[in-house]
Amino acid sequence: MNTIRLAILPLLALAVLAPLAGCDDAIDIESHRRGTATHYMIAAANPLAAEAGRKILADGGSAVDAAIATEMVLTLVEPQSSGIGGGAFLVHHDAADGKLETYDGRETAPESAHPGMFLTPDGTPMRWPDAALGGRAVGVPGVLRMLALAHADHGILRWADLFEPAIKLAEDGFDVSPRLAGLLAADTEMREIPGTKDYFYPGGEPLKAGTVLKNPALAKVLRAVAENGAAQFYAGRIPAGIIETVAAAPANPARMTAEDIASYEAKKRYPVCVTYRAYRVCGMGPPSSGGILVGQILGILNHFDLGDMEPFSAEAVHLIVEASRLAFADRALYVADDDFVPVPVSGLLAPGYLAARARLVSPEARMEEALPGRAGRTAWRYGTDDAPEKGRSTTHFSVRDRYGNVVSITASIERAFGSKLMTQGFLLNNELTDFSFRPESKGHPVANAPAPGKRPRSTMSPTIVFDRAGKPVLAIGSPGGSRIAGYTLKAIIGVIDWNMHVADAIAAPNIVSRGGPVDIEAGTAAEALKPALEAMGHEVRLREMTSGLHGIHITAEGLIGGADPRREGVVLGD
Ligand code: GLU
Repeated sequence: MNTIRLAILPLLALAVLAPLAGCDDAIDIESHRRGTATHYMIAAANPLAAEAGRKILADGGSAVDAAIATEMVLTLVEPQSSGIGGGAFLVHHDAADGKLETYDGRETAPESAHPGMFLTPDGTPMRWPDAALGGRAVGVPGVLRMLALAHADHGILRWADLFEPAIKLAEDGFDVSPRLAGLLAADTEMREIPGTKDYFYPGGEPLKAGTVLKNPALAKVLRAVAENGAAQFYAGRIPAGIIETVAAAPANPARMTAEDIASYEAKKRYPVCVTYRAYRVCGMGPPSSGGILVGQILGILNHFDLGDMEPFSAEAVHLIVEASRLAFADRALYVADDDFVPVPVSGLLAPGYLAARARLVSPEARMEEALPGRAGRTAWRYGTDDAPEKGRSTTHFSVRDRYGNVVSITASIERAFGSKLMTQGFLLNNELTDFSFRPESKGHPVANAPAPGKRPRSTMSPTIVFDRAGKPVLAIGSPGGSRIAGYTLKAIIGVIDWNMHVADAIAAPNIVSRGGPVDIEAGTAAEALKPALEAMGHEVRLREMTSGLHGIHITAEGLIGGADPRREGVVLGD
């Protein structure tokens, strides 16, 4: 077997564990990509947002408290990725009673949605970018109701206090980050959109990195929600602004009603867990496919000894790819919002089923066709995966508080800048493009077809890994569209099987298959794997793959954190 050792040694050499101090005014990103702490820690995609979370943790707040403060600042400073105009999934471990809970704040389709909403008049699917822009793909935002639900369960500090860091930054101004400035400069649509262009393109020019930007409109919304609770976002003036913006969109104007927004419900879902080596890996069930994908892939890999193989060798990558292909085949057939279609979650994750799937994998050669298995009785068929190659938006952050509680949360407005519609200082999502554009496939209804009130299938994979004693050992997750599961499991395998520092596992090259070809992160040492993988029968493509993994490894020696060097994240703690 051809084993090509990747150049991860230089990364390992950098793994000097610098203890994290509190915080200076400007956080140097490079020196905070990794770190250790004793009491509490946050790893998040933006220094200002991570600092808001750190402050809450320092003040005795819970992991959920810190998550709320962080997500509010992310709404302001990383508007391309997530915010109160979008959705999220949150996985929570409670140290006091050992309970694991998963919260679903995914967007819902309005009453006006229908199965053919992303078809052109001639019945063919719309071009994805045409559908993503404007009003049609905007789902009812779920972030605030979800955070309110989690706060009611696990909050320690006052709800209102958690909004202070974001309100202050919105009123006083913050420095536009290089990443935000770069994405604004590259965007060709937003400078034409009323309500969005004046904020991001003052005088017709994109905001430059370092520009001090204020957002008084968002400060006003956050103050109202801080003082009166999340309900303020779901009735009255704020939803009226959303409805009007969606209706007046220059592209794809659409109908969302006050009732659509008022009736939004955040939900607690059953966590999805599998045993992997000596660990339990737990994540988000439907409407996300994330937990099932990560769980199935690891459940199949459990039958192979990755720990004995060279990290990121062709031999190991081949197995991960084959397991991924099988999991994606099942995802395409079975996974959608299970409030609407029956998803055989336990069948898909049953050890016997995964053992049978593992027997389909040859260590030497690519299986010709990776077909879905018989995991449950279902007549549903899913059409082609419409998720495009993207990965510039969405955000993941991980938090551990001084009490031992852990939060792993992924939040999104779908693609960069979502629908590109802005109201009251925040952007609205385009999450409904995560539905299948084709409501039928070869005469079968598609599980993930749009319907009123339904949540589009996600791949977001906020994950917590536990040891045998039920103690959390790793909180991890990533943005990246349908590649999210692949990024997340790279980090899990790196830490568990290859004993890597979590920051090195995060930084290691991304290599992902979503059922089709194997994508290798361009410009990395992993490019060297191409010939060996091709020799095993794989089609290999080189791609830009902007993961945004932010993880915390909880060890006997303390907390070890890592932030993805592909974005602007940092690790802070004490
Ligand atoms: N909308 C995607 C999902 O929920 C996430 C988008 C991204 O990460 O770019 O799976």
